[in-house]
Amino acid sequence: MSGHTPETSERYFARARGVIPGGVNSPVRAYGVVGGTPRFIASAKGPHITDVDGREYVDLVCSWGPAILGHAHPAVLDAVHAAADRALSFGAPTLTEVELAEEIRNRVPAVERLRLVSTGTEATMTAIRLARGATGRDRIIKFAGCYHGHVDALLASAGSGLATLALPGSAGVTAAVAAETIVLPYNDLAAVEAAFAEHGDTIAAVITEAAPANMGVVPPLPGFNKALSRIAHEHGALLIQDEVLTGFRVGPSGWWGLEGSVEGWDPDLLTFGKVVGGGLPVAAVGGRRDVMEGLAPMGPVYQAGTLSGNPVATAAGLATLRAADTAVYGRVDTVAGVLRGAFTQALAAEGVPHVVQWAGNLFSTFFGEDAAQHGARDYAQVQASESWRYPAFFHALLDHGVYAPPSGFEAFFVSAAHDDDAVNRVIDALPAAAKAAAA
Ligand code: PLP
Repeated sequence: MSGHTPETSERYFARARGVIPGGVNSPVRAYGVVGGTPRFIASAKGPHITDVDGREYVDLVCSWGPAILGHAHPAVLDAVHAAADRALSFGAPTLTEVELAEEIRNRVPAVERLRLVSTGTEATMTAIRLARGATGRDRIIKFAGCYHGHVDALLASAGSGLATLALPGSAGVTAAVAAETIVLPYNDLAAVEAAFAEHGDTIAAVITEAAPANMGVVPPLPGFNKALSRIAHEHGALLIQDEVLTGFRVGPSGWWGLEGSVEGWDPDLLTFGKVVGGGLPVAAVGGRRDVMEGLAPMGPVYQAGTLSGNPVATAAGLATLRAADTAVYGRVDTVAGVLRGAFTQALAAEGVPHVVQWAGNLFSTFFGEDAAQHGARDYAQVQASESWRYPAFFHALLDHGVYAPPSGFEAFFVSAAHDDDAVNRVIDALPAAAKAAAA
């Protein structure tokens, strides 16, 4: 299978670079770090994605999370077609928005009220505005390596594309905005205590990925989220738990469902995206009723959107969540578990020092002796890993028909549509990928 030339993708990429910066509408898609030509995609079905040169791959990106059911799930497509037949957008309330909001609240009771927006970025942006509005304070604590979208205040030491491109932050963010963000090492409660001791009465909120997966997967140490909640509340600040990536992906109630039974873990606000839109642009910010009712038109915190709660997008999200039952999560967990084992087996067979880290059904691999010995608990340890091994690993997978994330700092995503055949195709590709990573 190797040696495939993505001729049409190459042609399209050249054309794209003539009109779109870098040829892509989101940086990691450009293959900057792994090299080579990004595959332009023609279609996808179930666990497979097909490029414009007619090559089919097993998809381990799943649109970076939304495709929990697999691509083009019949129930979701039916709901989208039916909604589109009624028209594409009204800019007025619809019942589907209410049903989607109720579905989210039923799954995550910490969400007493929520508002639908179109992207995860809008959700986190609104969450920090709400926290500032509720507390009358300006500062935000975030953790290095956590990505919360391209909100000015949250771009410092962020994961995802900034990790991939090794950027400390973004140009164009004013010094004044950057100064309001305190960046701390992940999993480091002493640093959180120290920051609150010094700046406590000026901190509006701590924002954290519920389980970080944008610097690769770096799960919270036991009790970390609960302690954040305690420390923030002791100082009159809010805890924003960003579940844009983990929400309704790692389980029926997201990370909140996995950890929410822990007494004392009490996020004030939560953000969602990805799966809540089932592949169309829907995201949400929700949480404590008193804080959420700070939003206009009830309160003084402004937020709005022409396409917020779009009828076609919310129909896709609702159909996705309604289909995402415990059997779906059972299958996703099983597939992730099998692949984690297969990654380890293949890499160990080639003597590649590594660790496979996971949070629920999200996983990623860090290479190198240190990572193998101690794991990676924060962004500094992630950056110290041998990420230079990833491009060869990635390309060997691609050559063998497996579409992996084009960055070693992203999670692998699987879906309930990954049947045994798809899983076996990945397992068959792994020895060549491990050999490439060993070189
Ligand atoms: N928060 C987290 C945890 C994310 O993973 C992402 C995107 O990957 C975002 C926020 C931003 O979401 P969006 O890309 O929809 O703006």
